[in-house]
Amino acid sequence: MINVSLPSGDIKQFEGSVNMFEIAKSISNSLAKKALAAKVDGQAVDMGYVLERDANVEIIVPETEDGVDVIRHSTAHLMAQAVIRLFPGTKVAIGPSIEYGFYYDFDPKEQFTETDLEKIEEEMRSIIKEDVQIERFEMSRDDAIRYFEDLGEEYKVEIIRDIAKGEMLSFYKQGDFVDLCRGPHVPSTRYLKAFKLRSVAGAYWRGSSDNKMLQRIYGFAFSSDKELKDHLKFLEEAEKRDHRKLGKELDLFFMSEYGPGFPFFLPKGMVIRNVLEDLWRKEHTKAGYQEVKTPIMLNKELWETSGHWYNYRENMYTSEIDETVFAIKPMNCPGGVLAYKHGMHSYKDLPIRMGELGLVHRHEFSGALHGLMRVRNFTQDDAHIFMTPEQIEEEIIGVIELIDKFYSGLFGFEYRIELSTKPEKAIGDAAIWDKAETALENAMKKLGKAYKINPGDGAFYGPKLDFKIKDCIGREWQCGTIQLDFNLPERFDISYIGEDNDKHRPVMVHRVIYGSIERFIGILIEHYAGAFPLWLAPTQVKILTINDDVIPYAKEVASILESEGVRVELDSRAEKIGYKIREANGKYKIPVQLIIGKSEVENREVNIRRFGSKDQTTQALSEFVTAIKEETRIKFDMDKLENK
Ligand SMILES: [Zn+2]
Ligand SMILES: [Zn+2]
Repeated sequence: MINVSLPSGDIKQFEGSVNMFEIAKSISNSLAKKALAAKVDGQAVDMGYVLERDANVEIIVPETEDGVDVIRHSTAHLMAQAVIRLFPGTKVAIGPSIEYGFYYDFDPKEQFTETDLEKIEEEMRSIIKEDVQIERFEMSRDDAIRYFEDLGEEYKVEIIRDIAKGEMLSFYKQGDFVDLCRGPHVPSTRYLKAFKLRSVAGAYWRGSSDNKMLQRIYGFAFSSDKELKDHLKFLEEAEKRDHRKLGKELDLFFMSEYGPGFPFFLPKGMVIRNVLEDLWRKEHTKAGYQEVKTPIMLNKELWETSGHWYNYRENMYTSEIDETVFAIKPMNCPGGVLAYKHGMHSYKDLPIRMGELGLVHRHEFSGALHGLMRVRNFTQDDAHIFMTPEQIEEEIIGVIELIDKFYSGLFGFEYRIELSTKPEKAIGDAAIWDKAETALENAMKKLGKAYKINPGDGAFYGPKLDFKIKDCIGREWQCGTIQLDFNLPERFDISYIGEDNDKHRPVMVHRVIYGSIERFIGILIEHYAGAFPLWLAPTQVKILTINDDVIPYAKEVASILESEGVRVELDSRAEKIGYKIREANGKYKIPVQLIIGKSEVENREVNIRRFGSKDQTTQALSEFVTAIKEETRIKFDMDKLENK
């Protein structure tokens, strides 16, 4: 008798050995029909696996993480089978499942083309129709080497040679395609349906440029057509919003071959930047921060003291001044500590909140660079807070409230918080870690915040909170962070004079709200798809003239708006009005467009058109000026704040 324990807690009994199909069937016919694989005591197996002992069994269905992984990996095999059929003599390397899909590396006689991808996809569909059985079998290592040598599959031979002698290896056979594989796989090809081949790219064998360049075909695979369709739609939407494309179209920023990873901001991009920075300054002053500016380059010795020279050296740029090595700062922290250390501090002065919009440089590989999202220099909206251990909780509450004010109140972003706690290797004694982690949790509890804990994921020098915002197509971006630091205060031996007239060690916090201003602008471009809200738009109002006679009045409107602080542009070119509207609305996505014709001049009115709307309304100029002044004012929507 075999006892099978199911996740539901039920126990099924079988007379003798039993395979996974039979177990699924004993639960329900519908389960047996869609089951892809199973787990026996946590170990993934195929549906054909025969159980001969008592065990915990879980049937894997398509709509689970395990299920979709089996589908993705099986679709990779399916693609390899199709490729072998269509292009005999192609050698196969490896084909894992990845996020959203799979890839397979091939060594074909000729490079694959886009048309080949279509053919391969078609062949995959016909193999699905044939309902080819997928069977597992075993071979010894040495037999397997001979087997693949006979087939001329040199990459498989190389993989197997790395495996210890005497081991039994598992293989999967579907039709005339055999792959070395741990499995599990779907029972037959008809279980696969929702996939799409995406692209083909070069990839070095085993990721090393000393090896041959293979051809990697990427594909998407999901457990249902709907999910595949949704994902393709999401990608299309993301592509439309790509900040690199929009940044060019909207004249916001550019990259030059003279500075890969070093963005140039154009006048319109600078407006956005300045609005964000001005607001940052204003709100931080209100929240009791002072601003400092620390140097870009500092003596190597400082970086040795801070530890960056030993832990972060490969990301740092260096130069020499008077035969002494200087490093360009990758972080503002050591400079911030020096600024604190410059004076004497009493407990009465704490907390000291020192903000800095600091330009940092970090080396990134050229292949990793991505528009404004991944650059080699960027501005952190940094601040370092120095405080007594007793002040941690209240300070953290203050920072969270400030972050909430920006994310919820200003941008209307939804966001999540993650708390990363003490890792195995950590400095600072247990008591201070406890105190800090408790303070972080208490702060969030007091604010009624939900948060996820990542145990052991904190930095070696302190626990942290990460803030992840969600953009309007559901992508998450990590921006804000609050990081406690027990390391730098020790390394730099900073102190304050306590009530007892003795020296004490302050607690240090690093925190950012935007994170990197450059990257945050990239996120905003994609979030708004280039159609910035009125308060942030580089040009808030554009005046479009219908003919040359109205230019004097149009100029007068522009100068009135300008004097009221509205960012206004005048388009008085001798172009057709339809063309001007298309450019202002379609290309530049300007929130408010004023169309000036004869009747507007005669009645001292403006004809108003809003971005994305075909409606036009007419208003007296004086009324419009009053209204737009109010509308362009930066407002925090206090109702949206999570903690009021
Ligand atoms: Zn496989
Ligand atoms: Zn810092």
